[in-house]
Amino acid sequence: MAYIRIEDQSKVVIPQNPTIGFIEGDGIGSDITKVAIKLINSSVESSYHGEKSIEWKKVLVGEEAFQKTGKHLPQESLEELRKCIISIKGPLTTPVGEGFRSLNVSLRQYFDLYANIRPVKYFPGVPSPVKNPEKMNMVIFRENTEDLYAGIEWRYDSPEAKKLRRFLQDELGVKLTEDAGIGIKPISKFRSTRLVRKAIDFAIKNRRRSVTLVHKGNIMKYTEGAFKEWGYEVAAKEFADVTVTEEQYLQNPNAYSNKIVIKDRITDNMFQQVLTRTEEYDVIATTNLNGDYLSDDLAAQVGGLGLAPGGNVGDIYAIYEAVHGTAPKYAGMDIANPTSIILSGAMLLHHLGWDLAADSLERAVEQTYKDGRVTQDIARLLNKKGLKCSEFGEEVEKRIKPS
Ligand code: NAP
Repeated sequence: MAYIRIEDQSKVVIPQNPTIGFIEGDGIGSDITKVAIKLINSSVESSYHGEKSIEWKKVLVGEEAFQKTGKHLPQESLEELRKCIISIKGPLTTPVGEGFRSLNVSLRQYFDLYANIRPVKYFPGVPSPVKNPEKMNMVIFRENTEDLYAGIEWRYDSPEAKKLRRFLQDELGVKLTEDAGIGIKPISKFRSTRLVRKAIDFAIKNRRRSVTLVHKGNIMKYTEGAFKEWGYEVAAKEFADVTVTEEQYLQNPNAYSNKIVIKDRITDNMFQQVLTRTEEYDVIATTNLNGDYLSDDLAAQVGGLGLAPGGNVGDIYAIYEAVHGTAPKYAGMDIANPTSIILSGAMLLHHLGWDLAADSLERAVEQTYKDGRVTQDIARLLNKKGLKCSEFGEEVEKRIKPS
């Protein structure tokens, strides 16, 4: 086994045959994850002919881990994911309102995977609810570790909520009603800045045209508004030679035609802009809750969550994932759509720097849709019979060609 190494504290060194972790996932996880792994292997083999390969290490998390160890997220699994550095995961069950904390949130916080990256683009052949879905080609960078998602909240009748309500009234003169639960929304300079930095870095490496900061700063001035300010600040301080603000750009577009335009939009406006002026947006950097809503909205425009890939990425560690849930009603039936986790696998390959394999996998998926070979979730919209999950995998495999 050859693990990915860290040198000089932050340099990630990828061997030719790295050990990559995989979490199979609950529900439909076992169906879709095995298809994705097979296709990732095939695209690597077809592009590098044995010179590079992945050694997969199964890591137990979720229901299978609970059955075997009594814990959903055993310490040994965290250690294994730490050793692998880069991993991929199927969906994991989270009970609503009770039980254990979301495993996804726990993993993101444990490994400080501060950027949730969600590329959204259209594949011809996929039915869409909008007229020109091909205009969509955006990549969302959603802050992953703070905001209302930080898990700092108390039930309305808890001693903590009572204490906090008393403190707010006595010390700050803010009166809440006795039946109010309380959640805290932390947004910090350090975490906002590193997220926007990652989004701009991505825009530079991938020759993107703009980075839009999405915020609700008109109402939440010191959290969402501050996110916007810090975003512009990092662009000006660290990327002055390659970026320009939208305000400057509009004064003289010709002078700045090769610069990345930094703009901002208020969240509610952004929700209609992505429908009415889709082609004007490219990379998006936003806070946690905004990003959660916006990424599903964009995915819906190009055919739904079953197709949307995603990755949770920090400065060192990364976990790529199927972004949809466990779809329990399809568990074990071999009929779920594996596209999300397959394309997340392509993102993982890009992360390794294995772009030839990543591109060949993406192209094979695109061609499969163009040829009308689809699973039941898409087939039912086209009034035709769908392929099984494993059959869809075979169709993609047939179309994998070396780059
Ligand atoms: P879900 O599992 O995403 O399923 C909702 C519906 O979306 C399904 O009934 C199905 O729609 C469709 N769907 C989702 N993935 C599909 C796929 N790959 N192929 C075909 N259809 C697919 O959402 P949920 O029911 O709200 O959540 C179930 C569990 O998953 C919960 O425990 C939740 O916490 C968890 N979850 C995990 C993650 C994660 O691990 N990243 C993310 C979200 C939710 P139709 O019924 O219309 O066919």
